Amino acid sequence: MEKKINRIKEGLTTAEHLFVGIFAFVAIAAAVIMLMYVPTARSFVNGYAENTVRTGTEGSAAICEEYFRRNMAVLRLSAAGLDGVDLTDPRTVMAICTRISDSSDFRHVGFTTPDGITVSSFGGTMNTSTRVFIREGLAGEKSMYSHTNCDFDGQIMDVYSYPVKNKKGEIMGVLTGDKRPLQLSSLGLMDIAGSRNYGLIVDNDGKVLYAMDNNEAGLHEGNSIYDIISADSPSGKEINYVLNSVTDTTIKEINLKGVDYLTAFTPMKDGLWTFVTIIPQNTVTGAFSMLTIFSVSVVGAMTLLLIVSSLMMAIRIHRISEEIGEAVESSLRQMYVDPLTGHDAVAKFRENYAAVMKDTATGHAMISLDVDRFKAVNDMLGFEGGNDIIRQISDIIKRNIGANDFFCRSTGDQFYILAHFSENDELVSLAERIINDVDYITGDIKLSLSIGIYKIDDPQIKSRVAADRADMARESIKGRKESRYVFFDSSMLRKIRREKRIEDIMEDALALGEFIVYLQPKFGLGEENTVVGAEALVRWMHEGKLIPPGEFIPLFEKNGFVNKIDYYIFEEVCKLQKKYITLGYVPKVISVNMSRTHIHHPGFVSELAAICAKYEVPTKYFEIEITESAAYEDMDILCDIFREIKDVGFHVSIDDFGTGYSSLNMLKDLPVDVLKIDRSFLTENADEHESASIIIGCVVSLAAALEISTICEGIETKEQAMLLTKLGCNMAQGFFFARPMPVADYEKLTYGI
Ligand code: C2E
Ligand code: MG
Ligand code: MG
Repeated sequence: MEKKINRIKEGLTTAEHLFVGIFAFVAIAAAVIMLMYVPTARSFVNGYAENTVRTGTEGSAAICEEYFRRNMAVLRLSAAGLDGVDLTDPRTVMAICTRISDSSDFRHVGFTTPDGITVSSFGGTMNTSTRVFIREGLAGEKSMYSHTNCDFDGQIMDVYSYPVKNKKGEIMGVLTGDKRPLQLSSLGLMDIAGSRNYGLIVDNDGKVLYAMDNNEAGLHEGNSIYDIISADSPSGKEINYVLNSVTDTTIKEINLKGVDYLTAFTPMKDGLWTFVTIIPQNTVTGAFSMLTIFSVSVVGAMTLLLIVSSLMMAIRIHRISEEIGEAVESSLRQMYVDPLTGHDAVAKFRENYAAVMKDTATGHAMISLDVDRFKAVNDMLGFEGGNDIIRQISDIIKRNIGANDFFCRSTGDQFYILAHFSENDELVSLAERIINDVDYITGDIKLSLSIGIYKIDDPQIKSRVAADRADMARESIKGRKESRYVFFDSSMLRKIRREKRIEDIMEDALALGEFIVYLQPKFGLGEENTVVGAEALVRWMHEGKLIPPGEFIPLFEKNGFVNKIDYYIFEEVCKLQKKYITLGYVPKVISVNMSRTHIHHPGFVSELAAICAKYEVPTKYFEIEITESAAYEDMDILCDIFREIKDVGFHVSIDDFGTGYSSLNMLKDLPVDVLKIDRSFLTENADEHESASIIIGCVVSLAAALEISTICEGIETKEQAMLLTKLGCNMAQGFFFARPMPVADYEKLTYGI
């Protein structure tokens, strides 16, 4: 057993470790996933931010370029239209310039001749040969300058210039136009993180040419980008490099006064200018950072929860596994040790049995031992008193068995012994010694034992089978009033097989009407013995043979089929009574035996009453016989049933009175009409004759006092009939008067039909 317990405990510990291992693994995996998630999420967010800023910056730069290109295109197309025009005439030129300025967004448009004299739609002429955009134009280059002084009125303007060429490609002059400086906010720049306020256009020196109002960097037109980043700092140097040398969009992270900025630089105007976006890092990553923080918090909280719950689970599993371990240990111990007697229990007995059968194959006997009518013992001594008897019997068995023998209590009052023997006498002596010692258990009650002995003839036989055979032997003698032992023999096996056969055919037999009613008349005892009624007794007519009830009723009581038989016989009797009524007779009461098993079936009485109602036969023509042994059941239930039987109008009798342990006392509680004194009182033994007649006399007079009629069963002789008449018994039933007979004989005897 210890080995088994240890095995189970080891198994539990392994399972526990496995559980904890799985939980720990899940918790660690969650933690690792979370740790990996943070940098991944961060780099994703950063990548996303960079992309957003890059796209926004490139888009905005493209919009600006398009703006400049469109302005320049006005001059280009106008210049192309001047071929063949006399540009030496100032008035003509003035008119052309005015027309161009009127039809475009330029404030003024001017034309400069190769000698540097400009005629403007502003009105007037000026020498502008020193202006760089004029020089570039005369050199054949188009150009655009921001924030330039107008020669005519001194206003700060953006100036565009475009060379005018004739068909031969010779420079005829320069067309110039000026516009109010570009307002970035008017261009509808790209939106970055919900705002357009991040854009600047700077030249290669970092000078801010155009700036969105309220831009995050706080730079205005005319500022330098190096106002916020020192030109000597690493970031300043890097930016200088980017502004002058890099041709693609460049992303930089810079820190200004503790704030991280994400900057993007997109070259414009052939690399002369750069569109710059300066945006606080968290403006663009903020929402994503929030998401990251949120998801990290959720995952973190869940991981923590998982770890805590894993821990709690581990503790709980540990406790449960300890509890299971203890429960298993205690139930195993219970399986091995009988808590009532402290001796071996069935499991231990089986283990010992298997070990013994492996070692020595012959010379063993299985003994089944049981206390007769232990229910009565319990009723009389109380539950504790009954337990005490069981403990005493256990000790007696222990005292009497050999050193190598062993035993157990299986259930209630039943014991099994495995005894070693070489001669039968040793087993007989063991049984007798036990019976003898049990006789000496003092108390108010005489105990009797039934002992069945099976000599194990085949070592392969399992303990269950050996026990069944010993039981079979024991049951064959159960119900006697004194202790007995008996050896198993193969006729018992045959009996079991026979019972099996009966069970196979009983249903069909009932359907085929093989069960028939015999009636044994009852006689009134007095001066004239007349038929006062009859008892219905079942017979089984099978294959031409009449089988008496003793051969099948006990089996039917075991398997429950008796209930069907009883209803069937009752209905047959009902039909008979109906017939007598129809023929004009007053039917004599017929008693019908009802097994005690009915007591536990609710509706049993109403079922019988319903059968009477079906045939329209009054219930008063029936007597219900219930054996005295029914009193072993719950007396309260029995009383209720008797009361019910009487209430619907049946008579009720206690059958076989005197065979059990029930006391005369119960008669005052049970509402009974008739007491059927068992034939065992009518002993042949002369010595006992006198005491038997005293007892019958007492029973008869007690019953008379309680207004209960008496009938004595099994009257076989005239002397018995006379004695009972003398003792005042009301009725008699027995072979002396009439044997159980077929219905036809009973009808002839009783009604003369
Ligand atoms: P029981 O109810 O005590 O029936 C009386 C038994 O005593 C009958 O045995 C009857 O033939 C027998 N008997 C009558 N007079 C004498 C006599 O002078 N001497 C001797 N030696 N015996 C006599 P039977 O018919 O063999 O029935 C045996 C038992 O089977 C009945 O005992 C009853 O308990 C049971 N039984 C019979 N029919 C039914 C039934 O339909 N339902 C139930 N549940 N049990 C039945
Ligand atoms: Mg009877
Ligand atoms: Mg009887």
